[in-house]
Amino acid sequence: MDQTLLSINHPELEKPAASSRSLRMPSDLPAFQVLCDFDGTITTTDVTDTILEAFALPAFREWQCRWERGEITSRECLSRQVELIQADLPTLMRFAADLPIDEGIVTLAQRCAQHGIPLIIVSDGIDRFIEAVLRRHGLLYIPVISNRLICDGNGSLSLGSPYASPDCLIGAGTCKCAVAGFFGLSLKETMYIGDGRSDRCISTMAQKVYAKGGLREWCDLQGIACEPFETLTEVTERLFRKVGCFA
Ligand SMILES: [Mg+2]
Ligand SMILES: [Zn+2]
Repeated sequence: MDQTLLSINHPELEKPAASSRSLRMPSDLPAFQVLCDFDGTITTTDVTDTILEAFALPAFREWQCRWERGEITSRECLSRQVELIQADLPTLMRFAADLPIDEGIVTLAQRCAQHGIPLIIVSDGIDRFIEAVLRRHGLLYIPVISNRLICDGNGSLSLGSPYASPDCLIGAGTCKCAVAGFFGLSLKETMYIGDGRSDRCISTMAQKVYAKGGLREWCDLQGIACEPFETLTEVTERLFRKVGCFA
């Protein structure tokens, strides 16, 4: 896609695009990017689900059931659930910041930066919660593509999904396969790391998939090749051993 067009359609991409120099790859390395899920992959629990459990009116579970029965898309589900959250943004962000992460993300991000390999978080979760976690761990420099939390003047919350795609196989708020090309590399040049349902569409198309939890089971059922993993430390070692530059 033309870069000018991209920044018009997606003004929020200006920030990652500005750091394209740090994303440029040395010519002696294979050209690939690492796209990583957030909830359940970088954090050890699903931040959005944990926040809903703690702060949303109980009706959020009914939307969850409707989504699990296939009656609504995951985008619609999350959108309805967010409107049921009964807390202000600072409270939610403090809560999110305290949630545990897989510490392996710190080394993964360092290795990628050292070797000029783009690392991008692609998430069907919520920008402000992701931001809170990344800030706590000094990882705010990692670009993020996700849904957005919108707060109106009265403090009520709603969901924005600037990266939804009408063609998305799973009706996600962030269609991960649709955004994979935003940084100049294709799905064929993408190493994907994930654990859940929002990772399914991209897992059918990425060059390599590192999968755990439900995603691993789903890949096995579908006959999609994946590398099982438990921690991001393992993924980092395997990823960089493969390209011969694990320092
Ligand atoms: Mg996940
Ligand atoms: Zn999709």
